[in-house]
Amino acid sequence: MHFDVLTLFPEMFEGFFSSSILKRALDRELVTASVINFRDYSTNKHRTVDDTPYGGGGGMVLKPEPLFYAVEAITNEAAARPPVVMMSPQGTPYTQKKAEELAGYDRLILLCGHYEGFDERIREHLVDDEISIGDYVLTGGELPAMVLMDSVIRLIPGVLGNESSAEADSFSTGLLEYPQYTRPAEFRDWAVPDVLLSGNHKEIDQWRRRQSLLRTLERRPDLLEKQDLSEEERAWLSQQQKQRRES
Ligand code: SAM
Repeated sequence: MHFDVLTLFPEMFEGFFSSSILKRALDRELVTASVINFRDYSTNKHRTVDDTPYGGGGGMVLKPEPLFYAVEAITNEAAARPPVVMMSPQGTPYTQKKAEELAGYDRLILLCGHYEGFDERIREHLVDDEISIGDYVLTGGELPAMVLMDSVIRLIPGVLGNESSAEADSFSTGLLEYPQYTRPAEFRDWAVPDVLLSGNHKEIDQWRRRQSLLRTLERRPDLLEKQDLSEEERAWLSQQQKQRRES
């Protein structure tokens, strides 16, 4: 999979691509990335990429030309153009499901805004998808682009050491993940649940599934509404709720 990231601040991506799992994925060429400064596509001698908004008001708006020219320069007219994704607080809220969808593409072009954002013609005529990472406003689209890339890259086969670690993650199953423990089996007076030390994988799987259900019920009941639970699971959950109310 290849990412083209169009930004005014390429240096922000240096640490991101040079650490941990993402570095390993790049070194092994499971993923490739080009970070492109769209200022290089400005047609004006001062390399301007922004201008004041028509109609007045504060701030600066990103001009259309550098972004259109940059996308046109990196795409081949003969081939189908890869999706152009705009990072925007006005976009569709980002989810694990969307990450899974995006992981199905060979190539994505990400546009990182700054200042007051983009001239509307970019949104209307260049962009295929608009993604928000949450209901808050950041100074630029670089962190959102990193969030998107991180969540997509870890889904590419071979990127994570242990494939099953992505499968059980929160949201991948539609539920929050069960609690995890590692050594020591006892720290201060806090012991790891016995079942996890039992070696009985059937019981461990059942414990994890139930913990996952319980945690989702407590923290994100909205996610449970979309789940197809068995009669036995529903009965167990309502019994847990009853016990909690009584205690
Ligand atoms: N004036 C814009 C508005 O109200 O929609 C906000 C512009 S914001 C200061 C500058 C850039 O940061 C945006 O163009 C976008 O690329 C990025 N950005 C800020 N918050 C974001 C969010 N929650 N999700 C995705 N991108 C965001």
